[in-house]
Amino acid sequence: MLGFSRSQPRTVPAEARTTTNGTTTDADDVAGTDDTTATQSRYPRARPDAEWRESLTPQEYQVLRLAGTERPGTGDYEENHDVGVYSCRACGNELFRSETKFDSHCGWPSFYSALAGDAIEEITDTSMGMSRTEVRCAACGSHMGHVFSGEGYGTPTDLRYCINSVSMRFQPGTTG
Ligand SMILES: [Zn+2]
Repeated sequence: MLGFSRSQPRTVPAEARTTTNGTTTDADDVAGTDDTTATQSRYPRARPDAEWRESLTPQEYQVLRLAGTERPGTGDYEENHDVGVYSCRACGNELFRSETKFDSHCGWPSFYSALAGDAIEEITDTSMGMSRTEVRCAACGSHMGHVFSGEGYGTPTDLRYCINSVSMRFQPGTTG
């Protein structure tokens, strides 16, 4: 006869679940779900995260795939006044033309219009405690920057597409 039933260690599971560093359930997240979501993406040129990591430089990956922002005034294209087309550096999709580029002096290349059609995608972004409009490449979903309106720059649209240089690749002389 088992006279002693095991006492229920009620407090142990709760204490065991409390980690020392505040980060919990790391094991559950190791595999990640990025790859599966990429293959199910609505973007026609979406690729698995591992392929983006391989094909992009760390800075490109940080901005394009993690929606980072290059430091103002550090990009290659803010002061570029050459005629040409700006394409997505991740997938090559043509996004902007030099005709709509203007000098905003904000620290990043600025355009008042994107290429016609569905070259870009605009998504409401509420990160950083603000409501902004994120600009993505419509072909691969990579982050380009943000678009702002009503700033009074005197452009035909009163829009400012504020785009990271590192998100784009410039091809001179191919506009028209
Ligand atoms: Zn793209």
